[in-house]
Amino acid sequence: MRRHVLALVFAALAAAPVLAQAPAQAQAPRIVIVHAGQLLDRPGRPARGASTVVIRDGRIVEVRDGHVAAAAAGYTGAEVVDLRDRYVLPGLVDSHVHLTSDTGGVLSQLEEVQLNPAAKAYNALANAHKTLGEGFTTVRNLGDRDGVTLALRDAIRAGKVVGPNIVDAGTSISTTSGHMDPALGFRDDLREALDRHDNLCDGADACRRAVRLQVARGVDVIKIATTGGVNSRIGAGLSQQMFEDEARAIVDTARLYGKKVAVHAHGVDGVKVALAAGVDSIEHGTTLDDESLELFRKSGAYYVPTLSTVNGYLERIAADPNAYAPAVRAKVDWRIRITGESLRKAVPRGVKIAFGTDAGVSKHGRNGEEFALMVKHGMTPAQALEAATVNAADLLGLSAEVGTLEPGKRADLIAVEGDPLRDVTVLERVPFVMKDGAVFKDERTVATAAR
Ligand SMILES: [Zn+2]
Repeated sequence: MRRHVLALVFAALAAAPVLAQAPAQAQAPRIVIVHAGQLLDRPGRPARGASTVVIRDGRIVEVRDGHVAAAAAGYTGAEVVDLRDRYVLPGLVDSHVHLTSDTGGVLSQLEEVQLNPAAKAYNALANAHKTLGEGFTTVRNLGDRDGVTLALRDAIRAGKVVGPNIVDAGTSISTTSGHMDPALGFRDDLREALDRHDNLCDGADACRRAVRLQVARGVDVIKIATTGGVNSRIGAGLSQQMFEDEARAIVDTARLYGKKVAVHAHGVDGVKVALAAGVDSIEHGTTLDDESLELFRKSGAYYVPTLSTVNGYLERIAADPNAYAPAVRAKVDWRIRITGESLRKAVPRGVKIAFGTDAGVSKHGRNGEEFALMVKHGMTPAQALEAATVNAADLLGLSAEVGTLEPGKRADLIAVEGDPLRDVTVLERVPFVMKDGAVFKDERTVATAAR
C-alpha cells in the first residue's frame, strides 16, 4: 500500500518536466542536490567519502567532495536531499528477471491457461514496482509471452507508468520440447492452443526466422535455451538440447540486427555450444568445467549465476511438498544441491560475472538476497556489488547510462544504512530509491527537508 502511494507521488514528480517541455519555451531546469555520507560512485573502487551529487533534469552534472550548500555551488533554490548519514551508490541492475509472475511450480502451469495477457500485464507492473522499490532501477527481462513486458518497457520509457528501466527479450527461443516449449506438461490436443508464439525452432533456417520474429517485435536482446530447464515440465534432463548449427544461426542472425544473445544453459555441453557460437552471457551455468571456464575467458562472455532460484525452490517446497510435479522435483533437488559450485570455480579464474536473480523463480522484490549468496559462494562484497552495477550495465549495453554515478549518467541512485562493502545484507533493506532524479521511495526514519 505504502509503495503504491509512493509510486503515485513519483509519477507526479516524473511527469512534471515532461509536461513542461511541451511548449517551445525556456523552462527552468529542475536541480536536485544530494548530500551523501559515503559515496560509492564507481563500485569496484573505494568509496569517496562525504560527497555532493548535482542532478539536472534527471541526469548527473557533477560530483563534488564534501557537502556543498546549494547556494555555494551556484544552484540557489535547488532541492536538497539529505543522505549525510547514508551510503549512497548507483541504482542496482538485475540482469535476469521475469516480471510477469513469481508463482512457480504447478501453480504457474495453471496460470498459463487461466490468465489473459491483460492480467499478466498488471502482475508485471506490480512486480516492477516491487523491484524498483528494492533499489533495482534497471532490469533485463529474459522471457515472457504475448509481449507483456515489451509493452511495459515502452510505457515506462514514455512516462505513462513508473518502473525500472527494462531491457527486454520478448519471448525466449528454444527447440520443440525444449525449455521454452509452452505445451510441455499439457494434454496433446492443447498444443495447438498453447504453441502459438513462433518461438520454437528446429533447424538453422527455422532458428533464423525465430530470431527475426523477435527482432520484428522490437526486442532489445535475444534469449535462447541450449539445454533443458529445471522448470521444463518433462523429465528430459538438463543437457544440450540445441544443435551447434542452430545456436550459430541464432547468434549470427541476432548480430545482423545488433542484438546480444543471452543463453539459458545448465549442462556444460550446452554451455560450450553457446560460448563457441559467440553468445554474450550464460544464465545459470550450473555445471561449469575447466574447458568452459577457458571459453568464457577467451570469448569475454558474462556468467550470470542466478543463485536466488534456490530460495524460491526451498520456500515453495516448505509451503507445499507437492509444489512441483515429480519430473520437475528431481531437477529442483539437484539444482538446490549443486548451485553455487560453478560460481566458486569461475571467480578465481577471472570470468566476468554479472548479477542476475531469475526473479520469477524466486520472489520479486527480494532481488537483494542474491548478494549474500554470491558472497557465500566465493565473491567479495565489492565484487558482488560491481557485478550488480558496472558489470551488469556493461552486459546490458548501458554503460553510458547507468552502473556508476558520473556526470552525464542517469540519476538512478539508492541509499542504504551501513557499509555494503562490509555487510552485503544491508542491500536487502533499501530505504531510499531515486530514479531519473525523482524520489521513488523514502522510508528513512529521519525526515528530510528541502533547504
Ligand atoms: Zn529465467
